[in-house]
Amino acid sequence: MGIQSRRERGSTPDDVKAHGPVDPLQTISKLCSMRRLPLVESRSAVYDDWPPRPDDFEAIPHLRDSRGRRYTYLRLSVTDRCDLACVYCMPPSGEEDHALRRELMTFEEAARLVSVFAVAGIRRVRLTGGEPLVRKDIVRLVDLIHRRTEVEQLVMTTNATRLSELALPLRDAGLFGVNISIDTLDAERFNEITRGGDLGRVLAGIHAALDVGLEVKLNTVPLRGRNDDELVRIVEFAWSLGVTPRFIELMPLGEGAKLPSSMRMNADDVMTALGDRLCKATATGVEGHGPARYLSASDGSGQRVGFITPISNEFCDTCNRVRVTARGDIRACLASRRAVNLRNIMRAGGSDLDLAWAMVWSLSGKDRGHYFLDTDEHEHEHVGMSLIGG
Ligand code: SAM
Ligand code: SF4
Repeated sequence: MGIQSRRERGSTPDDVKAHGPVDPLQTISKLCSMRRLPLVESRSAVYDDWPPRPDDFEAIPHLRDSRGRRYTYLRLSVTDRCDLACVYCMPPSGEEDHALRRELMTFEEAARLVSVFAVAGIRRVRLTGGEPLVRKDIVRLVDLIHRRTEVEQLVMTTNATRLSELALPLRDAGLFGVNISIDTLDAERFNEITRGGDLGRVLAGIHAALDVGLEVKLNTVPLRGRNDDELVRIVEFAWSLGVTPRFIELMPLGEGAKLPSSMRMNADDVMTALGDRLCKATATGVEGHGPARYLSASDGSGQRVGFITPISNEFCDTCNRVRVTARGDIRACLASRRAVNLRNIMRAGGSDLDLAWAMVWSLSGKDRGHYFLDTDEHEHEHVGMSLIGG
């Protein structure tokens, strides 16, 4: 089924009757509170100033904020659960605040959201979590989004433990590629860093993804004292598969905020560890769909290494991404707790136009940056990546 046209989704006379000509989100807000569905997660005072909503989809602008940044990339979390518990992401006994089943968006709700996001200018969607492959029937969600929405590319970030069984059905359902997280190639260390993970399953998952033709990238969080002696090996492993490795600086979010800062390695530290394998003169700016900067191999092979540098060289000025948690909160930034709940707008009977306007509004006031290094700002430390969607 194709996406509805903007006009088909425009407000009908019934919408106008139901919501009134201006500020329909206030109506939704009231409906939510009558049904005891909170519209905002926190800091509700910030949300007093709902602006009037345009009357139809034709008038919904593509997602931009007040600083002119345009949003084209959605990271959609499908679960906050995981079969691993990486030391920088998940507490040893798992998150206490896991969503209950009824709190998770259904696949139909998630696909509806994506179709509205696509009308508002989102071109690429990344499914994430927690671990997206632990969500039951995840292949059906990929299929729904692929068939029902007009996004150009649907990809996933995964720990790959279940990928050897799922790579083929996911590709057949419309998945284009996977970013696979792997922090070490040593089985014992892998077990320690992930608190119980089996490296063999991840390696099998990587090969399965490549065999079925998914685009694959490998993501590593460099951790001093844990995997810093393996960075060259990880790069060579990735290159031997024809895959690009990327290093993500450890962020002080959730469990990551509890690790000693001496474990953090920035992009320069990693480049030093990689020595003359990389040609520094080939540094790119932010490129492609995400925030990674790339350096090419010095041997002229054309292979590359990516660096994602939220700490040492923040890319907030060019941010093009918006996040939705598994519970349906839209978050303009990883570091922000400000969140409108889109799931509750749907469950309170909101129209697609209400959703689109909530999206536009949520992003319009996005902060300039993340303030991770601001010693007076600790908001981001309370919620880990697995709850927000990494
Ligand atoms: N479970 C999947 C996985 O591990 O790829 C998807 C979700 S995970 C939260 C997404 C990415 O976030 C992973 O690459 C992980 O290494 C990264 N991550 C988690 N916590 C982080 C932190 N505190 N700092 C930097 N990266 C983090
Ligand atoms: Fe799970 Fe991914 Fe977090 Fe590791 S980084 S605990 S695999 S969600």
